[in-house]
Amino acid sequence: MMESKGCVVWFTGLSGAGKTTTAQHLLQQLREAGARAELLDGDELRAGICKGLGFSREDRMENIKRIAYVAGLLARNGVIAIVSAITPYREMRQYARSAIGSYIEVYVDCPLEECERRDVKGLYAKARKNEIPSFTGISDPYEVPENPDIVLNAHGSTVSGNVVQVCSWLAKSGYLPAREGELV
Ligand code: ADP
Repeated sequence: MMESKGCVVWFTGLSGAGKTTTAQHLLQQLREAGARAELLDGDELRAGICKGLGFSREDRMENIKRIAYVAGLLARNGVIAIVSAITPYREMRQYARSAIGSYIEVYVDCPLEECERRDVKGLYAKARKNEIPSFTGISDPYEVPENPDIVLNAHGSTVSGNVVQVCSWLAKSGYLPAREGELV
């Protein structure tokens, strides 16, 4: 096992921006390098420990609190916990930052028009037809992060380039051993 330091790498961004895609590649890269890493995917957790929660402000907040709790436990035990969740409100990200000792905010930046063009899950089309109430970016706000630790360009840059950017940041900040050329 490589000596990584526990932390939470929290991906925030619009639906379809590329959070899960980038997070999955990062997970694979970290594991191949011998680090202990886990991925907490917002969509999966909504079918599990966050089941029953809806999309009101209160429920969304509760959703994030549960994810932050589990991610924090993992991080305290030396795991690099990657979270992929829209996390649309500033208040949520402030909560996660204060609740988690080593919280690294990664803003997956992709224009709404591009997310809508991708429409990976067909949700934007439904939201435009008012079939989904409170859909982030359409009928519910996404408050752009004001002080993210990392910003990834998920429109112009490649997934692998963005993974390198995160790994370099983790190495530079002491979460991964900074051995030249090992991860990047
Ligand atoms: P999210 O988890 O943010 O909802 P997903 O990762 O599920 O988004 O979907 C993003 C989609 O955009 C995927 O189909 C992915 O292949 C595509 N995509 C195209 N370019 C990029 C990029 N540079 N970074 C991430 N995803 C990209």
